[in-house]
This record gives sequence, structure tokens and C-alpha cells, in this order.
Amino acid sequence: MSQSSSIFQKKSKEKAFDRDHRKVINFNIAKYNAAVPGGQEQFADLNLARERAKNLKWKAIEVLDQTLENFEANITKRGAKVIWCEDARQANEAILEICKEKNCKTLVKSKSMVTEELHLNDHLAKHNIESVETDLGEYIQQLDGEPPYHIVTPAMHKSREQIAQLFAEKLGTDPNDSAEQLTLTAREKLRQKYMDAEVGVTGANFLIADIGGIAITENEGNARLSCSMPKTHIVVAGIEKVIPSLTDLALFWPLLSSFGTGQRITSYSTVVTGPRQEGETDGPDEMYIILLDNGRTKMLANEKAREALYCIRCGACLNACPVYKNIGGHTYNTTYSGPIGSVITPHLKDMKEWKHLSHASSLCGNCTEVCAVKINLHELLLENRHEAVEEGYAPVVEKISWKLWKTAMLKRGMMNIANGNMKTSFINAVAGAWTRNHSKLKFPKESFNEQWKEKNKK
Ligand code: SF4
Repeated sequence: MSQSSSIFQKKSKEKAFDRDHRKVINFNIAKYNAAVPGGQEQFADLNLARERAKNLKWKAIEVLDQTLENFEANITKRGAKVIWCEDARQANEAILEICKEKNCKTLVKSKSMVTEELHLNDHLAKHNIESVETDLGEYIQQLDGEPPYHIVTPAMHKSREQIAQLFAEKLGTDPNDSAEQLTLTAREKLRQKYMDAEVGVTGANFLIADIGGIAITENEGNARLSCSMPKTHIVVAGIEKVIPSLTDLALFWPLLSSFGTGQRITSYSTVVTGPRQEGETDGPDEMYIILLDNGRTKMLANEKAREALYCIRCGACLNACPVYKNIGGHTYNTTYSGPIGSVITPHLKDMKEWKHLSHASSLCGNCTEVCAVKINLHELLLENRHEAVEEGYAPVVEKISWKLWKTAMLKRGMMNIANGNMKTSFINAVAGAWTRNHSKLKFPKESFNEQWKEKNKK
């Protein structure tokens, strides 16, 4: 068993029986479930919208090299600089180099999962650069020293009371503060950081190839401030974020917001097409775009797994997953959790170490059912299991067990050797992990074969 797998199993056991955790998660996911149908009502044909979105992503990903080159050519025309990075180390170094050049001491950052992939904040802290999370949920998580819990709602596992307590401990506020008071406190603290920051970092929900632009959606205005107030704007984006055309946003923006939060459209939708141009009053002097691979081209080369690159990170599959709802986001110990995280992590990182995630699923198919871009998530989970076996990563005990099972199943005589009582004792002893938390398995005294004979005699 890999180290990641034993950590996952240990944490799963703890979280699955944590009633407080379950209460908060169920409450927050229930709010989400109540909002989403309202947002989805805006589509005359929701199924068609999802299919179109999938086709557009397919179009972009099948010719990813060309789509990205188009994007680069168009955005560099207006003075932005594109930096291609193979892995997290290269991306961190490139960002640090820019920060050093700008003599940056404080950096403001809007919500970006790809920077979590880089562990960017830790890297900058080692070089005495303060990287401040400006999204409220991320700000809460940073105060608490925790990574995001969910790809859309980073502090989903915390109640208002827990956040008020955290603010009281870290910022000296009243532990009985209301949600509004807590938000105002964060706002006041963050405003000064925007004023101080030499560099702003954002992610990108979409990279728009035909105009060379970055599309960012958000509800707090913090991403807009992060990319426009500091003199330097750095965008960090995975290469799969590209879409062919600006007109595609008419579909992707409402799709992302309705599946992500149940909104028809998020409060702030921004397209950035380069640094401040001559004659313009707003915007940064310089803009850099870090295009990150970090395992994505490996996925692109895999004909089946490639489909997972269509993901627009709406988070719907996490909210729908019975496993995620029981064990929560941190148990996965990965940047991306839930069904999509279980599908992509073994490819982005290492199949041998992370193959256990493809078993963190009931295969109910609910994730596939709710996916905004119709990714066949549960089939890809099965595909990962298959790949792990093909690559020789199945444990020896598992291989022997299946061999024995197959031999017994193909021979009636062997199936009849043991009577029901023997089978019951044997299976319950072997399936110890199952019977620890479930009632014991009980076999009928006679085998099916014996019962059949008996029935026909009568
Ligand atoms: S896999 Fe689908 S449902 Fe899950 S986050 Fe991505 S787009 Fe959303």
C-alpha cells in the first residue's frame, strides 16, 4: 500500500465518523443543491448546452498546440509576456524571478487552484515575500493555515461560528461577530494589502485563443483588484484552460456559474487582454502569463484520460459525490479532490502512488450525471483502475485472490466443496475490513446448486 493510500484510509475513517463535520457539509451542500436548479433554468435546453460546451473543449484540446500558439500570438501583440513552464519548479522560479525584479515584498493573489498545485505561497514565503489570499474563503483558510477544502468554496467545511472564533484568535475581533461583520473585517485588512502590493497574481477561468485574453469570473471583485491595482500582473493557468473564441464565453460563463454556485452569472466577469495600453488610465504596467503543463501533456497523450482536460472546475461533481460528502476535501490530500481529483491526480502525479483514489467511489455515476461538460467521470475512474492493473500496480494479495476466485467460479465441484457455514466463516474472516463497519455476511446453508437440485426433486 502506498503512503498516500494509508494516509487516505486513516483520514477517511476519522472523517466518516465525525458528526460535526458531516453536519456543516450537509448544510452547505444543501444550500448549493437548493440554488443550482434556479441557475440552470436560464438554459432552454440544458443538455444541449452541456454537449456544446463539451464539443468546444474537445475542439480546443484536440489541437491544443495550435490553440495555445494562437492565444500566445494574440496576447503578446498587446505587450503581455507568455512563459511556458513544464512543471511546478519552473513556474515557481519564473514567478520568483519576476517578483525579485520588481522588488516585491507583498503580493496579492486571487483564488487560483493552479497556484495551490505549485504551493506558491510557501515558495514565496521562503524568499520573504508575503503572498496574501484575497478571496474571502481562501483568506479564511490562509488564516487557519489550511489548504482549500473545495475547488469553488475553499472554506465550505467551516461554520460561521468557527470562522468568527478564528478571526477572534488571529485578528482580535469579537467571537460573536456576524457574517457581515466578519466580511467587513476581511475587507478592511485586504484593502491595505492591495495598496501595498507590487505584484498581483490571478488564475484564469479561461484562456481565449482568438483575441488573446484571460477570462476571470468571481463574486467579490478581489480578482479584478488583484490584476489592476499592482503595477505587475502575473496570470498562472494550466494549458487546458484554453477555449477557441471570445464568443464561447456566452456559453461557458453561465454554465460555470450555474453549476458552480447556482447563479445565472457571477457578480464580476472580467476579460483582460494585456497590460495597460497607451492612453488607458487603468491596469498594470506589465502582464505575464505562466502557462503550466505539470503533467497535462501526459494526460493529453492518453486517449481516454484526455477527456478530463475538458473540466471547467465548477465543483458540481464534488457536491454530488457520496464519498466526498462523507470524507470531505482534505482527506484526499491532493490539490483537486472529489471525483475529478480522483481522475486526474494519478495522471498529473503518479499512478502507483495515487491509484487508490480511483477506488474512492461508489461508481453510482452521479458525478457524470451532474458534470457541466459531461465528462464520463465514473468511467474514467474505472479506466484508472484498469490502467493501474495493466501497469502492474495491483497488490499481490489482490492478484492471488482474483485468481482463486476465478478458478473456483469456473468449477462447480470447487464451489460445492464448502457448505454455507464454512463459506460464512471464511468470507467474514477474509473480509475483515468490510465486517468492521458492516453487519456480517451470511450465506445460506446449501449452495445454489444444492437448492436447485432439491427444488427439482420436489
Ligand atoms: S469534472 Fe465536471 S462537474 Fe467536476 S468540476 Fe469539472 S466540470 Fe465540474
